[in-house]
Amino acid sequence: MVKQLVAAQNDFFATQKTKDVSFRKQYLKKLQQEIIDQEDAICDALYADFKKPKFESLATETQLALAELNYAIKNIASWSEPEKVSGSWSNFPSKEWIQPEPYGKVLIISPWNYPFLLAISPLIGALAAGNTAILKPSEFSVHTSKIISQIIRKVFPPEYVTVVEGGVEVSSQLLAQKWEYIFFTGSTKVGKIVYKSAAEHLTPVTLELSGKNPCVVDKTATISLAAKRIAWGKFINAGQTCIAPDYILVHQSVKDALVDNLKKSITEFYGEDMEASNDFARIATGKHYDELKTMLKGEKVLFGGKFTDNDRYVAPTLVDEPERDSAIMEGEIFGPVLPLISYTDESELHPIISKYPNPLAFYVFSSSKKFQKRLMDRYSFGGGAINDTVVHISNKDLPFGGVGQSGIGGYHGKHTFDLFSHHKSIAKRGTWLDVPLRYAPYTISTGLMKKIKHLF
Ligand code: NAD
Repeated sequence: MVKQLVAAQNDFFATQKTKDVSFRKQYLKKLQQEIIDQEDAICDALYADFKKPKFESLATETQLALAELNYAIKNIASWSEPEKVSGSWSNFPSKEWIQPEPYGKVLIISPWNYPFLLAISPLIGALAAGNTAILKPSEFSVHTSKIISQIIRKVFPPEYVTVVEGGVEVSSQLLAQKWEYIFFTGSTKVGKIVYKSAAEHLTPVTLELSGKNPCVVDKTATISLAAKRIAWGKFINAGQTCIAPDYILVHQSVKDALVDNLKKSITEFYGEDMEASNDFARIATGKHYDELKTMLKGEKVLFGGKFTDNDRYVAPTLVDEPERDSAIMEGEIFGPVLPLISYTDESELHPIISKYPNPLAFYVFSSSKKFQKRLMDRYSFGGGAINDTVVHISNKDLPFGGVGQSGIGGYHGKHTFDLFSHHKSIAKRGTWLDVPLRYAPYTISTGLMKKIKHLF
């Protein structure tokens, strides 16, 4: 089945229909309408998958996807225009330009944590750029994957866009095919598998991967606001956010105040009985739930720490001073568990931060511009924020992605269009003049050639 789908998309791309900007726009508008019509059903599916609160489903999934769609529909015509560059004198007479063109068939593989947005958002850019696409959503967010499949089936013919549901086996079958572009969001471990498969065909990739994101709170930070913003970024989506702060490095002198304010913020957000809150999601998979439970064994819990097996509920949890080699400090936590490590001197930060390669996100809370700059300049990370968490994702002009172990490439807004376009360079020469100097037999002395520097 996979082979037939791929062949059908090859044939469809060859018809050149997707090169027509009005064709792309027409389908993006259809997709927009269908998402608007199905928005409540999408939220229901997200709730069925991991009790994602409706507000969060709207704010972090459907409305972000609709904003991307709106922006693409408005700008697709200008993005698709060839971009003129000034002609080089050696080519005179000539017009020269960069022309974006679609790659062809695109494979998009997405994860379960923001299962709607992370499938649809790259798709929008892929289609805006004129590609065809096969989408493989996560097998762990079954309800959302199902509704994505229904929406796509209703809007697109399968030779243009189709959804293939399934797990690792299906994903492997898809990766064995030849693609002109692969866009993968998920773990660094699986990202490496995707990269290897892509290398077989020299297929370009975007890899949106994971990292262990530090959040540094220095003694000059506004602690109550820092606590509120950290708690928001950490516990939205029950901590299952790739750019959530993973661990806090807090100056010893403000640690108690930060802990008190974190507890206060969490209680304000979710009430005394956090499990009963309608505003707090559950862990999406049994495997991740079990991992979180194991991770917490033997740790000193300052707040939270409750697990309810039959509901995959993990309370917003604060952990005090874990050992550097503990399970909690080994890899990405990916759940509502937040460890705090204190420091007394700035020099203590580097050995901890540098233990984890290239975080996807980096956060600093401080009133000192010098301190903010020192940290922002020193470390290589995907993206970040000063005096807030997560919010850098919301600006479509900021490319979103990782670096090194946390990924390759960045997207959102026009960046997604550019990422799914090959930019071909074209020089159109005039025919009324043809300077003979470049042709053999060469008549210019090598001394003069060095002075001219470049002849063509
Ligand atoms: P995952 O890597 O396990 O799975 C992602 C996708 O890959 C799924 O569709 C899955 O079916 C497929 N897959 C899994 N194993 C595979 C294999 N061996 N071969 C081929 N395909 C395979 O990730 P996940 O658990 O679904 O998502 C959570 C991870 O994703 C976290 O590490 C998180 O940090 C990361 N993430 C990153 C971003 C980002 O934008 N950088 C966003 C969300 C999540």
